Amino acid sequence: MKTESAARVSVVIADMETDELLSMFPEGPRLLGTRCGDCGREMIGTRVVCSTCVSSNVGTIALPSTGTLYSFTRLHVGGDGVRPLGYVDLDNDVRTLADIREGDTPLEPGIRVELGVEGDNWFFARAASETKGQRHD
Ligand SMILES: [Zn+2]
Repeated sequence: MKTESAARVSVVIADMETDELLSMFPEGPRLLGTRCGDCGREMIGTRVVCSTCVSSNVGTIALPSTGTLYSFTRLHVGGDGVRPLGYVDLDNDVRTLADIREGDTPLEPGIRVELGVEGDNWFFARAASETKGQRHD
């Protein structure tokens, strides 16, 4: 009976040397992503292998700055008040957990959101196109 495992040695997925998600691109600040050159899968963060097909043929990309709020919750954090946190489906179908800024209009699933940056902090907020001209009654 053969007892040897055929499992390959695990490869570190995240590149821990470049752990920052936010970076500056010609089009402005964007979250860093990785695109697989073999299967085309796009992922959040800088990876050394594809999380779908385990190919190491991957390259860094700028993720879209806009997406749709999939779901959210409001964390009640001592001292800091309420911290909305949500899943955003970026326009390339990458889902990410992010801080959500809530303006005067309450958040709701399905709204369009866009990336915002303040110093080293990034978040998503209702897209400007969502706050203007939506109601004509
Ligand atoms: Zn792949």
